[in-house]
Amino acid sequence: MSRRNNPNRIKIHRSYTVIDVSEALGVHPKTVRNWIRVGLPVIDDRRPLLIHGSDLKVHLKQKRKTYMYKCEIHEIYCFKCKEPKNPNIESVRFISKPAGMAQMSGRCQECGCQANKYVSWRNVNQIWFELEGKLPIAEKHLILREEALLNYPFDMVFNDEKK
Ligand SMILES: [Zn+2]
Repeated sequence: MSRRNNPNRIKIHRSYTVIDVSEALGVHPKTVRNWIRVGLPVIDDRRPLLIHGSDLKVHLKQKRKTYMYKCEIHEIYCFKCKEPKNPNIESVRFISKPAGMAQMSGRCQECGCQANKYVSWRNVNQIWFELEGKLPIAEKHLILREEALLNYPFDMVFNDEKK
């Protein structure tokens, strides 16, 4: 296992500055600032920025998982096949989640195991297209909850497809 990005080098009860993190993990400070930009929590807005060890550990673990289960945009990670697979298109559902996200679920084309992942609504058309689905996406594949009515510009899904 590489020492780079190794969460075991981070202590959960400590706070770290960007430079501390960079030194502990052997990554560029820019990389650490990027992590903050994409969602690594900082303790507050004071300078220097402080990062909680436990937050950092969670962030690194998630990064690792995403990397291990690296899927193409239209693939889901099948835990039975232990690799990214195309879902059976008939089984695919996009379930609305807050903040413009959707949970994509479907059954592995090969073994039929159910798997899911988070995607952005913005990518739903493209995912569907990559799966060789016909546009517009039939409503049965879209499971929309109330909050989606507020958060998600519906027209985009249906209108985009007419082009
Ligand atoms: Zn499978």
